[in-house]
Amino acid sequence: MTPSSAVTAGDLPLVTPPAASARDPRPGLSGLSTGQLAAWLEDRGEAGYRARQIADALWRHGASDPAQMRTLPGSLRSQLSASFRINTLAETAVRPADAGLTEKALHRLDDGRLIESVLMRYPARRESRERATVCISSQAGCAVGCPFCATGELGFERDLDAAEIVDQVRFWSRRLADDGNRVTNVVFMGMGEPLLNLDAVVEAAQALSDPQRFGLGARHITISTSGVTPGIERLASMRPQWTMAVSLHSARPALRDVLVPLNRRYPLQGVVAAAAAYARATGRRITYEHIMIAGINDTPTDADELARLLRGHLAHVNLIPMNRVAHTPWQPSPVERLEIFAGRLRGAGISTTIRRNRGIEIGAACGQLAAERSESPPPATVARRREILETRSAEALQSARSPGSLVPSGPPAP
Ligand code: SF4
Repeated sequence: MTPSSAVTAGDLPLVTPPAASARDPRPGLSGLSTGQLAAWLEDRGEAGYRARQIADALWRHGASDPAQMRTLPGSLRSQLSASFRINTLAETAVRPADAGLTEKALHRLDDGRLIESVLMRYPARRESRERATVCISSQAGCAVGCPFCATGELGFERDLDAAEIVDQVRFWSRRLADDGNRVTNVVFMGMGEPLLNLDAVVEAAQALSDPQRFGLGARHITISTSGVTPGIERLASMRPQWTMAVSLHSARPALRDVLVPLNRRYPLQGVVAAAAAYARATGRRITYEHIMIAGINDTPTDADELARLLRGHLAHVNLIPMNRVAHTPWQPSPVERLEIFAGRLRGAGISTTIRRNRGIEIGAACGQLAAERSESPPPATVARRREILETRSAEALQSARSPGSLVPSGPPAP
């Protein structure tokens, strides 16, 4: 499916990103598979062991410049530089938050597009080791247009290629190495809908989990989706060990149409059925993400509907307080509401956690930094958008109370 055929909210983009310039024709070196790199060297009459030297420089030492590939002769470095970009992130600005536990990067690509990635450090606890999770983008902008998301307001700009995706991880890996640390987890939850750029996302996840390249355990990589059913089915057929996260946000179809406009193309039941097939094919539990928006999708009825939908599934629910976004009328749910919601799910036998938001003071929610660099919408446009969202969500909540609107229950418990 092409990005332009995704369902959008109909009134996006709300903000206008800076204009893009021409792209550098050289591909990113980190986007090459081991076989492609070996073939490129062979075409130039280079010895096979050079591939290992280049891979070490790129993946183990995080080289971002040909000059850092010191084991290679100057002539080979020059050829590499003429054929490839060693680092596809032209410029990066970093903002720290949470006493250094969170850092957010705004990356400028070769054509001026802006994307974001986030590093979240989790100190060791009695029950878990120290972790460093990197959240990465798969597209510049996004066509899905979820109205609680700053990236959605930007609209779709373009897909990232595999090198642009993995270079975000290499960036943080270099930074962590300075302190003797390493990336332990990668989540595809930044800008964009990963399954609308599936080929590049699969290439990137393969590079990250390949022991000859980045070498991160496949189970430490999470691919999220707002519910691109064909993409979930395609991934299931590959039987990878990557974790799948589905952004559900509501078990009420009419309300989900508003919160995740892609629901009109790929309805809830088909999404959950495809995710269940992924769980069966891989043996991996599905994480269902549920943004908590005060008075919209955080009532006990919403929790009960969600429990009915997921009953009997290999599933875990992650509740996420909404980040405040400039142009929506909604607010995050209060903590007590999250606790009640989580309690009802757990009472129904659904494994549930509440995620603490990171980096609120630096706009760590996806798309917020890029949106800051964009042209602000006129106040009348913002007011109209707020009005539309209030009307649509009120209509959806009204229809959810009508008889026959409840979702069918999940399969019987095993
Ligand atoms: S939440 Fe994800 S899928 Fe929805 S608009 Fe934002 S980036 Fe796109």
